[in-house]
Amino acid sequence: MDLLDVLLPGPGDVASVLAVLRAYGEPEPITLTAADVEELHEAALALYEVFAAPDVDRAAEVLNELLARHARAPRLTTHGGTFPWHLHVDSHDDAPWGEWLLTSSCLALAVLLADRQARPGGICASASCRKSFVDTGSGGPRRYCSARCATRERVAAHRKRAR
Ligand SMILES: [Zn+2]
Repeated sequence: MDLLDVLLPGPGDVASVLAVLRAYGEPEPITLTAADVEELHEAALALYEVFAAPDVDRAAEVLNELLARHARAPRLTTHGGTFPWHLHVDSHDDAPWGEWLLTSSCLALAVLLADRQARPGGICASASCRKSFVDTGSGGPRRYCSARCATRERVAAHRKRAR
């Protein structure tokens, strides 16, 4: 998740978080303060626990805890006609950024978990990366965040064997 990547491990800066939100088509004008970024960072830390869960049962447990603590009743919205109808579980359409990130990510990850009956993502197995990733694949569990990390680790393992 690109947004988590700019928010972890540090809180990230307003400019880089804004760039990711824009890249994802968040409508202008986007108002984002340093305090918002700090809240987004807190949300990202909580979400990292979902990705770090060792199995589907633990991932479900962490998601349930986060939803119980932060989510409201499901609500359909178009944001005043800007988007197609979709579900939100935050308190209102102008909820703080941190609340939005945490609740919308938990909802999406919970749906994905139920759909695949598997962990909704993981943490990249590359020791130099450790980024979280969402796993929407139908194959076995993924180990790396990207083809780039998978290739780098494969080459490193090959070199080690060759020596
Ligand atoms: Zn990686």
